[in-house]
Amino acid sequence: MDAAQPSRREPVLNADPTAQARLLDLQDVDARLDQAEHRRRTLPEHAEIARLAEARTAIDDEVVLAETDCSDLELEQRKADVDVEQVRARAARDQHRLDSGQVGSAKDLENLQHEIVSLARRQAVLEDVELEIMERLEVAQARWRAALAERDLLDADLETQTASRDAELATIGGQTDGMDVDREALAAALPADLLALYEKLRAQFGGVGAAALRQRRCEGCRLEINSTELGRIRAAPADEVLRCEECRRILVRLADSGL
Ligand SMILES: [Zn+2]
Repeated sequence: MDAAQPSRREPVLNADPTAQARLLDLQDVDARLDQAEHRRRTLPEHAEIARLAEARTAIDDEVVLAETDCSDLELEQRKADVDVEQVRARAARDQHRLDSGQVGSAKDLENLQHEIVSLARRQAVLEDVELEIMERLEVAQARWRAALAERDLLDADLETQTASRDAELATIGGQTDGMDVDREALAAALPADLLALYEKLRAQFGGVGAAALRQRRCEGCRLEINSTELGRIRAAPADEVLRCEECRRILVRLADSGL
């Protein structure tokens, strides 16, 4: 137990200085892979595609609603057409009977004339209904066409955004091509205990588990090492794996550490 450093709870780890330097290479590859992954995840196209897909679902519902309205109204229209046609046919038949002079009694004649008048009134009412249905159908058809046009626009936007996303992903993939293999090779060449500590710290400290000591500054937390700590670092054996007192990351000594 080193009484001068009560805050250092971790057991001292030793690793060849070359291995420590290679750990920085691994850290560099990991940082680039992490950046690539971050770029993949945060492409603006992801949010845009999600928004467009949501709008596409809503417009699909709108298309179905408008289509249902149209077919309901077309049915109503056909029924109204039949109603008008029936009244018109009956009025024509009555008129024909009247014109033919076949109606004998004055009473029948009066009834017939009365019916013709009432059929004409009925026909006018039914034709108004028919017209009103036609107008509603035109509105529904316009709404349906607008929904289809909107859907086409959304599909085109979706296609553009998807192509853009895929191109970005391909570019990022190209930039990191082979890096996974490099990482495996670098990791495999490191002592297991050093690698395990690095992975643990990397998970703990935002992806950075090891940092170089350059010009008396830890490149993990960017803080300058105080003189007491520098003295301890100078005195430490070259194969001792050091930790930054501030950020607790593995601190790797290099030629330009300023010791
Ligand atoms: Zn630090």
